[in-house]
Amino acid sequence: MTTLGYALIAAMGNVVGGLAAVRGARFGLRLIEGMVALGAGFMLSVTIIEVLPESFARGGSGAAGFVLLGYLLVHLSQHTATQHFHFGEETHQVTRVAGVTALLGLLLHTFFDGVAIASGFAVSRELGLLLFTAIVLHKLPEGVTISSLQVAGGRRGGQAVGSAALLGLATVTGVLVTGWVVPLATHGLALSGGVTLYVAASNLVPEFQGKRGWKLPVAFFLGAGAFFATKELLTLAGG
Ligand SMILES: [Zn+2]
Ligand SMILES: [Zn+2]
Repeated sequence: MTTLGYALIAAMGNVVGGLAAVRGARFGLRLIEGMVALGAGFMLSVTIIEVLPESFARGGSGAAGFVLLGYLLVHLSQHTATQHFHFGEETHQVTRVAGVTALLGLLLHTFFDGVAIASGFAVSRELGLLLFTAIVLHKLPEGVTISSLQVAGGRRGGQAVGSAALLGLATVTGVLVTGWVVPLATHGLALSGGVTLYVAASNLVPEFQGKRGWKLPVAFFLGAGAFFATKELLTLAGG
């Protein structure tokens, strides 16, 4: 499959998540909540174990600045310049403007989801597949987040799912432009490393760390374990 194919699958995850939120599919939403925790564990692991060392090997200590920049950019776009945003299903009323600013903030993040996939495949097929998996795991929750926020802001179902589709489109765009835009071709891996670090540790983990019960923590640690298992399988398949 081409890199674009992987981007399209990831984009579809956004739309499926959006549909689940708009239709109020309770069972689906519970499952997606589990994916937040599982995705967080996987994403944190791939970033720390693979993306950061690879970025430093390629860009030297200068890459550290791009990691930090990626992290700060997500905070700026999702929280500083946003009325109301958190990951997961929106369960209380918000203003319509909150839906717009959250969408704009998430567009930057989802664009970098695409940059991460393309930068990963530019290094190796193994890293590309690992990053694709990390991103696909949080695409459904991402769709739920934006669509439920739009519904809570009083928008119709079609517009809410449309917002989720726009997130998917941003990811496809990220994949398509990474090879062509020089700063992304050179620093895309480090930048998206900062973004995925933020998404895993500052978007996804806070969503379940305050919740009771054992299922979500178990899903989180399983996510980390799943990363090592997937890495092992890919090495076996490749070698
Ligand atoms: Zn809220
Ligand atoms: Zn994302």
